Amino acid sequence: MRTLDEIASDGFPVTGLHGPQDHALVSLDVALRAYVSTTYEIHGKLHLTEPASNADEQNARDFNLFSGYSRAAFETIVHLQHFAELVVKDALRREHDLLVVLASQHHVLLHKLIKGEPVDAADYERLHAVDAAVALERACKLLGACKLDTKYDFIAANRSFLEKLNALRNRLWHRGTLVLRYRALDEFVGRYGLPFIKAATAIDPYAGCELAWKPKALSCAIDPLEEIEVELRSANWSVAKVAFLKEMARAAYQNPLEESPWFEHDNESKRKLVEATVAELGTAELGSIERITSCPVCGMDALVIYEDMDDGCAYTWLAKCEGCTLELRSSYGNPSTHGWAGKIEEYWWER
Ligand SMILES: [Zn+2]
Repeated sequence: MRTLDEIASDGFPVTGLHGPQDHALVSLDVALRAYVSTTYEIHGKLHLTEPASNADEQNARDFNLFSGYSRAAFETIVHLQHFAELVVKDALRREHDLLVVLASQHHVLLHKLIKGEPVDAADYERLHAVDAAVALERACKLLGACKLDTKYDFIAANRSFLEKLNALRNRLWHRGTLVLRYRALDEFVGRYGLPFIKAATAIDPYAGCELAWKPKALSCAIDPLEEIEVELRSANWSVAKVAFLKEMARAAYQNPLEESPWFEHDNESKRKLVEATVAELGTAELGSIERITSCPVCGMDALVIYEDMDDGCAYTWLAKCEGCTLELRSSYGNPSTHGWAGKIEEYWWER
């Protein structure tokens, strides 16, 4: 039987694909996948996220929100904070290793680091890293004193957001409290998180690694993260529009078609299989099918529009893609109401 030490050392580095920034991008990828899944996790029931008129009602709404939402909100904050912490520490480490480690009790190692002598990985691992708050404070002070490259100015510019992110993460991590409400999470990530992510991923070593963290490109040519950021700049931002965009981004992560032309043959086989399966769908368990159309995310003819009937009134209510898992609901509004006429067809009607 292997010892605990043997088991714990039986690993491989996450740095095979793009470089040493990979572990930061893994966290960013997990955070974004979690964030854009929040609409799916509340089963599209946007009315449950409306602010209540009194504390009792609010407590009931918070309590009744789906547990999948809490998990996604937790993952969003914890992994986004981890990504941000690594970005800040990377900026410091490029100046000097000593700016990110507590080395004062490790005298020989300290001497090696000061002298710039090589330190092997096992020795380096014995050093504790400074915590996120110290790293942020240090980076901002050094930027203020013009001691760090100006390409890191975005760290100081986003300082309030990063401090709040650290605080939210600590409350979740150490005390397990305070899951942001659905709309607050939209504002926090959309208005503050996405601009930080955009700035951080525009510079070395993260630039050009979009495949590692971004949703795949949408067939309708809308950039969901960009549009969420733009929408959240407005005080009158639309919860429905952001829900529509998040659900498209979530499905884009699930899109089975590959973006590289190298996979065109594979893509064609997958497309044929999915479209043949959809064409054979009869009246499904979700109700009667109004039509099957092209999906705005994966582009396959696999988006099934469902209709229902209530008090003599027929209406469409769900658009579900059998290719990429997209699930749009009528409460997210018709595309034309969000300014996407000509890019995405209309799905919802009642008569
Ligand atoms: Zn699709």
